Amino acid sequence: MNENTPIPEINQLVIQAQEAFLVFKQANAKQRADFMHRVADEIEALGPELIATAQSETNLPEARLNGEKARTAFQWRSYADALTNSNILPVQIDTSNPDRTPPKPDIRKTYVGVGVVVVFGASNFPFAFSTAGGDTASAIAAGCSVIFKSHSGHPETSKIMAGAIERAIQKTGLPSNLFAAIATDGVVGGQHLVKHHLVKAVGFTGSTQGGRALFDIASQRPEPIPVFAEMGSVNPVVLLPERLAAAAEEVANQYAQSLTLGVGQFCTNPGIFIAPNDRALPRFLTTLQAQITQAPSAPMLHSGIAASYHKNKADLLAQDGVEVLAEVPATTPETHGNATIATVSAQAFLGNPKLSEEVFGPFGLIVTYDSPQELLAITQRLEGQLTATLLAEPAELAANRELVAALADKSGRVLFNGFPTGVEVCGAMQHGGPYPAATDSRFTSVGPDAIKRFARPVSYQNFPDEVLPDELKNANPLGIWRTVNGTLTKAGL
Ligand code: NAP
Repeated sequence: MNENTPIPEINQLVIQAQEAFLVFKQANAKQRADFMHRVADEIEALGPELIATAQSETNLPEARLNGEKARTAFQWRSYADALTNSNILPVQIDTSNPDRTPPKPDIRKTYVGVGVVVVFGASNFPFAFSTAGGDTASAIAAGCSVIFKSHSGHPETSKIMAGAIERAIQKTGLPSNLFAAIATDGVVGGQHLVKHHLVKAVGFTGSTQGGRALFDIASQRPEPIPVFAEMGSVNPVVLLPERLAAAAEEVANQYAQSLTLGVGQFCTNPGIFIAPNDRALPRFLTTLQAQITQAPSAPMLHSGIAASYHKNKADLLAQDGVEVLAEVPATTPETHGNATIATVSAQAFLGNPKLSEEVFGPFGLIVTYDSPQELLAITQRLEGQLTATLLAEPAELAANRELVAALADKSGRVLFNGFPTGVEVCGAMQHGGPYPAATDSRFTSVGPDAIKRFARPVSYQNFPDEVLPDELKNANPLGIWRTVNGTLTKAGL
């Protein structure tokens, strides 16, 4: 990988990635899974240099980075296992029936990688959503080659992670251009990649502005391609009155913890908290104020993120009806994110769309409502979200089915009596949501289902067994789950 890879070199890399794809697409699911486990081995074998480099480039603490490294290796392993142990890319076989009128043909459906995939990672997860992150792992799992556009916030970390993938490629004898990482100065190189006619899909994690720009470029190509962009979100939390009365202090403590975790630099950070304006509210606000005031001010990922945080926060605090409840003194605003809580009435919130915009960092806006109707109006006004959370007593939950449905309409993941910051890597996870949380709400970017974004179905009709891909052969040589004439089975035909 070179610094600021020049455009002719980028073009060459795309051609080589296409050649590598044509070889890699011959690999069956088992061979792809074996390679993915080798990548996980190489990530796990990376020494202290990885953590030290990432620490110096991102200001993230060592313990957090060690956890993220383990999560990144787990992503490769669990997506690999999903290829061989579950029917994540569901194989379907409908055998022929020559006696039917007209005769029914033999049709067998499998999935192939879409081609060369370009991946853009986010600054806030230098491992799990970056070079060897979930988008790269899922594109490789689908049978694609990958060109990764390195994030300007952690270029050296990116090189170390790219090295792990490259060593796994060498050790397994796969084409060396199956994966490449490029560095570009500004947006030109990345946008050029998205326009390249040999690129067939894009994975993106980052800002709404960046994701939308790439989506627009991709849809204006002569051959439009999908952009799977996971973007910003304010992750609303809705508190109901009985829960407030029962646990005002506990909820305030938990909210303060979730809001300030990692200096608020999580895509699932709960930036809007919707609370009932009733007798117990002062207990909640007083505890929250005390918690936030004590939150240590800490360095953000880089000075650009800190500058955006202070600017976006100031813009929001200047809106009509917004009042600061608690603010940690900003001793070093150039680099640090100081936790801040503000309040606003439902009426003011409903009248001003600016108030529902994401402020990336430890900023929370408490929106107070006076009636169930006002609460419903707020939830209906919200844009698409990665998550929505309901804090309620069990009886309240039962009485508010309409509210649960409204939150599910707006978000990819709905939580009950918890906080959304953690995103488990598992089959049932949905990390995505209606726009602007993501550009395609039908898919997730976390969990093995993420593989589906980069695979496309192909049916083979009336082919002799020896010509079929391994997963469709009569004997089921890969031993995978398949739906044969409507029945899920591992048995051969
Ligand atoms: P970002 O500024 O959008 O950058 C992401 C990547 O896209 C970088 O490589 C960047 O290039 C590139 N990029 C941005 N705008 C571009 C454009 N117009 N044309 C071409 N390339 C472009 O995002 P970030 O600062 O890393 O992350 C912070 C944001 O990401 C927050 O809003 C957060 O909520 C969101 N986020 C979302 C998720 C999720 O899963 N939904 C996860 C984490 C973060 P450079 O490196 O050259 O700047």
